[in-house]
Amino acid sequence: MPRGVYDRKPYTGPRYPLEALERLIPTAPQRALGLSGQQMATYRAEGLTEAQADRLAVRAGFLPFEVWPEMVEHAAHESLRECADVECSVTFVPNAGNRRQGGSPQRFCSPRCRQRARRRRPDVQEARKLERLLYETPEAAELRRRRVALYHDTYRDRINAARRAKRSAA
Ligand SMILES: [Zn+2]
Repeated sequence: MPRGVYDRKPYTGPRYPLEALERLIPTAPQRALGLSGQQMATYRAEGLTEAQADRLAVRAGFLPFEVWPEMVEHAAHESLRECADVECSVTFVPNAGNRRQGGSPQRFCSPRCRQRARRRRPDVQEARKLERLLYETPEAAELRRRRVALYHDTYRDRINAARRAKRSAA
């Protein structure tokens, strides 16, 4: 055995029948594919790996998907991922995300799962707890009152104009 073969992981992906390609080549498929009789026999017996199927289809002037339509489904299946939310068992084909905008591949199957996972994060829970506390203290009530007053001070002219417009419309 040549060196390195021991380390190689055996191919466990889908196999594609050589016959599907042979049928599309009307004359002398073996010659068109540039294969030896031994290779033809091996490929017929074992089927083609994805890389072999790719290479041979292109050699014969076809797109791999044209020869083996099931490839589309296999490719989709391989890219399936499980939802990152521990309570969800949905698998989906993730959106790759725009890397130039700092995006990463989609991890959750839905916005709902993303929200749910986010709420479980310790830092988010802590922040929510703090926010609740802020609403429960007497100082917080005073701060909220002042925030509303500040808003009215800042936008008094606009608010009054809007009120006048509403009154004259009525
Ligand atoms: Zn999910």
